[in-house]
Amino acid sequence: MTPTIITDVRAHVLKPDKHNLVVVEVATDKGLTGIGCATFQFRPTTVAEAVEAYLKPLLVGRDANDIEDLWHCMHYNSYWRNGPVLNNAISGVDMALWDIKGKLADMPLYQLWGGRSRTAIPAYTHAVADDFDELCRQIDGYLAEGYRYLRVQLGFYGGNPDHLATPDAPLEGSYFDPEQYIATHIKLFCDLRERYGDAFGMLHDVHERLQPDQALRFLKEAERCHLFFVEDPVALEKIDWLRDIKRQTATPIAEGELINNPQEWMRLLQDRSIDFLRIHVSQVGGITPALKIAHAADAFGIRIAWHTPSDISPVGLAVNTHLNIHLANAAIQENIELPAKTRRVFGGAPAVKGGYFYPIEEPGIGVTFDREAADEFPGQFKEHAWTQSRTPDGTVVAP
Ligand code: MG
Repeated sequence: MTPTIITDVRAHVLKPDKHNLVVVEVATDKGLTGIGCATFQFRPTTVAEAVEAYLKPLLVGRDANDIEDLWHCMHYNSYWRNGPVLNNAISGVDMALWDIKGKLADMPLYQLWGGRSRTAIPAYTHAVADDFDELCRQIDGYLAEGYRYLRVQLGFYGGNPDHLATPDAPLEGSYFDPEQYIATHIKLFCDLRERYGDAFGMLHDVHERLQPDQALRFLKEAERCHLFFVEDPVALEKIDWLRDIKRQTATPIAEGELINNPQEWMRLLQDRSIDFLRIHVSQVGGITPALKIAHAADAFGIRIAWHTPSDISPVGLAVNTHLNIHLANAAIQENIELPAKTRRVFGGAPAVKGGYFYPIEEPGIGVTFDREAADEFPGQFKEHAWTQSRTPDGTVVAP
C-alpha cells in the first residue's frame, strides 16, 4: 500500500451554540483531509494547544495509514499519560486518521470495521423540566416523534431544591439536597409509570450526586419502576463501590463517561459492577481504544451506551453512530438535537428518524467541516458555575 503522508495538523475551537467544540483536521499529500472530535468544553484551548504544539510535530511526515502505531506513539510520547487533555487531543487525530482510512477505502467506518450488527440503533433524548406537567408535555412530544426511550429529570442535576437549609453566609456554588432529590425522583418514576405504563423505556442520570449508601437506596427504591438504566449513581472516584451495589439491586447501572484510564474500565468489567459501559469516546483517546474497550466489554456480557451529550461535535456524534451500528453489544444512543448553527458548520451530521439512528453511508466518518462557517463562531470561554456543586452545609461534591 502506498503511503499517505501527513502534511498538516490543525485544531479549531468554535462555539456555534452553547458549548465550545474542538475539531482536528489532518491533511495529507493525497489531497485527502480527515476530521476528528477533540471536544473538552471545560478546557478547549488547552486541548488545541496540545494538538498543534505537541502532536503536529510528531505526526507531520508520517504515514496516515499506520493508525495503530501512531496512536501508541501519541499515547507514550508525553511519558505521563491517560489524562483528559491529552486523551482528547489524541482522539481528534485518531478519528481524523480513521476518517482518512475510510475515504481511502471508499467505505463508511462501520463497514471498514466489519459491517453492521443491526438495522438501526435506538435513540433516547432528554426530557427535563422544573415541574411534572411540563415534563409530560415534553414526553408527549418526543413520543409523537417516535422516541421509545427517554431520560427523565426534574430540574437540574441533583433536582430542584425548594427548602435548602443552608447555614448563614453560604459559600458561592450550585446547591442541591440529596435527600430531597431522592424522594422527588422516586415519586417521579412512579408517577410516570402510572401515567404512561410501558410506553417508553425510562432512563435517569444521577450525575454522581449520591454517596454509595444513598445510591444503593435510590436504585432499590427505583426497582418497582423498571428503569432501562440509572446513570452514574456514584462519582468516578467511588466506582469500587459499584460491585457491591450491583449485587444488591435489580435496577440496571450505567457508568463511565468520566473514565480516562484503562484501570478504571477494566475493574468495572472484571467485577461485572455495571450493566452498561458509558465511555466518552474522545475522553479515552478516540476510536482506536474505544473499539478495544467495547470488545472487552462484550466478552464480559456488558453492553455499551456511549456518552453522547450536547458538548460533543457532530463528528463525535457520527463516530458513535458508526460504533453503535457495528458493535453487537451496543445498546442505545443518546441524542441531543443539533442546533441549526451547528448544522451549518458540519454537513451530513446524523439525525434521529422515528426513534432510531440509521447507518451513515458516506465514506469515512461521513461529516464535513466548513472552516469558513466555523470562523463565524469563535470559541469563547466562560466559567462553569454548576461544576461548583455543593450540599446544603456547603461541602463541594462531584457535579
Ligand atoms: Mg451523564
